[in-house]
Amino acid sequence: MLIIIISISIIILASALIYFKQKLKANHRNKIIQNPFLDSWEKILDKNVQLYRMMPDDLKKQLHNDIKIFLDEKTFEGCGGLEITDEIRVTIACEACMLLLNRKNTDFPNLNSVLVYPRPYVGNSYSHVGGGQYTVKPTARAGESWTGGDVVLAWDCVKHGAINGEDGQNVVLHEFAHQLDQEDGYADGVPILQDKSRYGKWAEILGKEYNLLRDRVEHNKKTLMDAYGATNPAEFFAVATETFFEKPSQMKRKEPELYEELKDYYKLDPVAWIK
Ligand SMILES: [Zn+2]
Repeated sequence: MLIIIISISIIILASALIYFKQKLKANHRNKIIQNPFLDSWEKILDKNVQLYRMMPDDLKKQLHNDIKIFLDEKTFEGCGGLEITDEIRVTIACEACMLLLNRKNTDFPNLNSVLVYPRPYVGNSYSHVGGGQYTVKPTARAGESWTGGDVVLAWDCVKHGAINGEDGQNVVLHEFAHQLDQEDGYADGVPILQDKSRYGKWAEILGKEYNLLRDRVEHNKKTLMDAYGATNPAEFFAVATETFFEKPSQMKRKEPELYEELKDYYKLDPVAWIK
């Protein structure tokens, strides 16, 4: 009996702690949202981020609050001699937070730090060659997303991707889509969906489109999405996210089921942003 009473007390205490922690976080966020969105930040976004310029004012307003919270909660670290500036922080936060708009159930909970290099950096790529053996090859990288809490980005690739919002290449959207995918601990191209009933349709449509892309890449046929999306399901979701935001009309026309599925997931319709 005593054990049951102690167990129940521990559960009640733990629940109360979680509740107060969440309440403190919500109160703090409410304070952060009250801070003004600086004119200098808006100028940076107008200059650097084409997708920001295109989106309607109500979404921009929502984005401003998400950016303020992102900048308050996530750490930026300059690597390779890069000094972190407001331009770097605000440009990256803006594009990352585009993936959160209209979806208040997530905020990149696993992410602690954004590490930024001035230009592509070298990392080791591991290829399985069978029998538990791997080859290691140094490769240049524009970005990476780690389940352990870091996103790594090359600033000149970030800036180039943000300035041109119509070429389907955007390293920030790509790496933060990986963060969403990795939120449940698995990089498998399946992020956390709103309810259980949606997983079947997600698997059916994204699985079908992934196989179609692989087939086209294998046969050297032209593809709307970057061929890198054919690497595996996780890369397919990240590349599909870039295409959804940057080539929405083409995706809606050529891959309507995929467009609708991503529209349903991101709760956004980027086709409507095109004037
Ligand atoms: Zn990737």
